[in-house]
Amino acid sequence: MSEIDLIERNCPLCRSDKHSSMFLKRRGSLDLMQTLFSPREIPKYNSLQFNFCKKCDVIYASPALPQDVSENIYKRSPLNSIMESSCASKTYMELFKKFRTDNLKKESALDIGCSDGIFLDELRRIGFKRVVGVEPSQEAKARAHPSIKNLIRNEIFDQRNFEKESFDLISCFQSFEHFFDPQEIMNSIFNLLNCQGVGVFVFHDFSFYLNKLMGKRSPIYDLQHYQLFSQISIKLLLKNAGFRKVEIKRFKNQYSLIYWSSLFPFSPQLKKNILPKIKILQNALLRINVGNLFVLVEK
Ligand SMILES: [Zn+2]
Repeated sequence: MSEIDLIERNCPLCRSDKHSSMFLKRRGSLDLMQTLFSPREIPKYNSLQFNFCKKCDVIYASPALPQDVSENIYKRSPLNSIMESSCASKTYMELFKKFRTDNLKKESALDIGCSDGIFLDELRRIGFKRVVGVEPSQEAKARAHPSIKNLIRNEIFDQRNFEKESFDLISCFQSFEHFFDPQEIMNSIFNLLNCQGVGVFVFHDFSFYLNKLMGKRSPIYDLQHYQLFSQISIKLLLKNAGFRKVEIKRFKNQYSLIYWSSLFPFSPQLKKNILPKIKILQNALLRINVGNLFVLVEK
């Protein structure tokens, strides 16, 4: 078992711990071999401690994995959810189309944390000429469709790898919870967008009733998450970066029943040995509102 020294963090938004109190503490051993992060992975309930900043309405992990450790884990993370990735991309595109974006040019788009690049394909379908994705997981890129693979940069997102104000659209779905410094990433997105550029994001909402009802058993309290937002803290994150025009919508995620059942606090034996054998769970799709938020901003 590899030992990792965890590090103390302050609130990712106000950078202070003055307004914070402990929100949730959980015993858990960190075994790097088991800590292979991937999107929509079965939660392992091995989070350590989350604090709550009253001033910013944000929950953040501290102590937490050092940034370089977590980045290295993402690089070698498996992609185990092509079907879920495809379902999510279709849902996000449907939502995006519902917003009025009359001034949006369709020259260039960037998807941060693009996984196997399915949303890049969606963007091309609606007319974007130049699309690029950033994804640290080597396996996610390896499993991308051949027509998309060369559009994916296999790296940790860094603003310096792109020209300032060079994108009309930047998307980043269900990733802000995973960034060590989410404010720095949002500032970068602001800098990389053209004037009148559009950002689209998906966040978990810790204040949604279902998450409150499930409490510590909610899958959002996961070792992969450095922080969790509410509508209040999302608006603060965006405002700090310079965005003024913000629209937020709740939506229903559509996934297979097997995926949904993996999120609920059933016993590990049931999740591993019994549920995967039930065929109907694999094939049936279900739309549920689990408190996720779709956010659209204009620069
Ligand atoms: Zn704060």
